Amino acid sequence: MPFITDDFLLHGDTAREMYRAFAADPPILDYHCHLPVRDLAEDRRFESLFEIWLEGDHYKWRAMRANGVAERYCTGDAPPYEKFLAWARTVPRTLRNPLYHWTHLELRRYFGIDDLLNEASAPAIWSRANARLADADLSAHGILRRFNVSCVCTTDDPADSLAHHAALAASPLETAVYPTFRPDAALRVGDPAGFNPWVDALGAAAGTAIARLPDLLDALRKRHDDFHAHGCRLSDHGLDHCPRSIASDADAARIFDRARAGRSVGNEDAEQFAGYLMVYFGTLDAARGWTKQLHLGALRNVNSPMMASLGRDTGFDAIGDWPQIRPLAAYLDALARQHALPKMIVYNLNPADGYAFATLAGSFQDGSVAGKMQFGTAWWFLDQREGIEWQLNALSNAGLLSRFVGMVTDSRSFMSFPRHEYFRRILCNLIGAEVDRGELPRDVDLLGSTIRDICFENARRYLDLPARAPAARLTS
Ligand SMILES: [Zn+2]
Repeated sequence: MPFITDDFLLHGDTAREMYRAFAADPPILDYHCHLPVRDLAEDRRFESLFEIWLEGDHYKWRAMRANGVAERYCTGDAPPYEKFLAWARTVPRTLRNPLYHWTHLELRRYFGIDDLLNEASAPAIWSRANARLADADLSAHGILRRFNVSCVCTTDDPADSLAHHAALAASPLETAVYPTFRPDAALRVGDPAGFNPWVDALGAAAGTAIARLPDLLDALRKRHDDFHAHGCRLSDHGLDHCPRSIASDADAARIFDRARAGRSVGNEDAEQFAGYLMVYFGTLDAARGWTKQLHLGALRNVNSPMMASLGRDTGFDAIGDWPQIRPLAAYLDALARQHALPKMIVYNLNPADGYAFATLAGSFQDGSVAGKMQFGTAWWFLDQREGIEWQLNALSNAGLLSRFVGMVTDSRSFMSFPRHEYFRRILCNLIGAEVDRGELPRDVDLLGSTIRDICFENARRYLDLPARAPAARLTS
């Protein structure tokens, strides 16, 4: 009996029927991920299970370190097979961690492998998976087809070239690939040494020199327009918390001049400047009908010796405990007062704040778009069964689950598409159990349409992404 069966995570007949009838088939609309656009444009082929599965995966590195594996086998210079073996030895120790489920779901869905991964099964799994990776249906494009991915939205800096996106638009790939406007670097005025080279790169991308604040705002708007022309309809921001204050025009100009001159900017000024730009970004998104995403609450790179030796995003992050709700409310209110509140998805990382996020989103619904203010899907440390259920329950109780735009992989890896299946099974299990208990009606039309909406249709309608644009209309 394989571990991953057709009934995986589905604990009643109703859940199973609903999953098969309504959740298994809708396409995947992955409106937030970190897949490298270059890999998409070049239809990357993967040489080995290491390349497609372990390279760059900080979730796995964290588990391996916790299991006593030396850094050499995580991010270091050990050969790929030795790193894979270290991971294989770790997998049995990840029991009840979501990695255990993901690992076996991914081996099943990509390679048809039912064996549990451990030290003994590692050599056979390595050669079997590597042989399958030579097949065209496991190239980057092959994977998108295989998992019925209708659309992927990557994450892009406003200073990035959109040349790969233009190439993808001109390619025969059936999956639409669009950029997402993520201007986090624009807020880092407190670090002039990093900020100024980025401002120069932004100016180069926008074809303009940036000396004063109005130049910066113009360059950002120009790139926003360029992104729009390439099909972008989403922005995204990764923030500790929303800025607690918003600079006046005069103060923002003063702070910008100071940073541009290479002088240090204090924390209070940096926060006010960030607030000023966040309001500006909100107005840009509202004017274009985009959806703004806020990823709030990650306490990043907490281990300074590891940060010094390995760099950012290597798995030394935690759930932050900043107060989120007041600054988020003030930000949404500032946009609402200017009649410039865009559609918005707010993602929460701290389980203590789930209900607060859900209620705050409900306070800014304005009747213009169904589900305009979205309490986003469980994210990062909460992207696991318990966290997904918490998010679904808070949203159900404080808002409208039926209007939810659903799951995203939020992943750097081409092996993460089964996260959508994982989410869909949890959703169907939650609803099916309540039907079986008589707490929801056994109304197949109502249940079926709600599930289909959450899996795909809501995101399609809400995001209003363009049909694939003819390449001739694009500027690169
Ligand atoms: Zn992300």
